[in-house]
Amino acid sequence: MAVLRVLVVEDEPAIAELITLHLRHAGFDVALAVSAEQAQAAVDAVLPALVLLDWMLPGATGVELTRRWRASPRLRELPILLLTARATEQDKIAGLDAGADDYLVKPFATGELLARIRAVLRRRAPMASDAPVECAGLRLDPAMRRVSAMARGLDCRLGPTEFKLLHYFMLHPEHVHSRSQLLDRVWGDHVFIEERTVDVHIKRLREALMPVQCAHLIDTVRGAGYRLTLAGPTRT
Ligand code: CA
Repeated sequence: MAVLRVLVVEDEPAIAELITLHLRHAGFDVALAVSAEQAQAAVDAVLPALVLLDWMLPGATGVELTRRWRASPRLRELPILLLTARATEQDKIAGLDAGADDYLVKPFATGELLARIRAVLRRRAPMASDAPVECAGLRLDPAMRRVSAMARGLDCRLGPTEFKLLHYFMLHPEHVHSRSQLLDRVWGDHVFIEERTVDVHIKRLREALMPVQCAHLIDTVRGAGYRLTLAGPTRT
């Protein structure tokens, strides 16, 4: 499974250090932000798989950030787990109403934190799952890193980026994705990679699907982006 990036937004150094240590130990790539401003800059640059967001922060509260991110088309689906010392029922309701996926009260046990992270990722980030996907006559198995054409029983040879790209397309058939959305969801990077990079990997993906007669599944939607379609190419 790919290494998942978790953004930890926490201004108390001791807690931040402890969480970072446990997450790294559990195999996550961890980025740290210590204020609302840093957190915003971090998600603007690279979309993480999940954010662990402290409630009380310099600059803005975690609830305010959650509300702001949920109003942004790019960050609407971002998995958010709120961390806080506040424990009244009203606080929990406010956090969840703002759009957080879950809520954990400090102090918490590491095992519970990791279990809740896994639960949020299962719900929100199907790309993080190792479950095989079948679509358009193709079967993709993330655990085995294998793609095969089901009818022909043939395997496709894909590079790591083409594999992730196809995985993403197969999880969202018929959905049109812009280049910047694909950079966010597949590369995790919205800012530092050129959009042209997407075109290069789309071309490679089609070439890799040619031997199993599936290149036509990857459709260019002019002016909009790319999609995986069962209906055949768009005529524009
Ligand atoms: Ca705090």
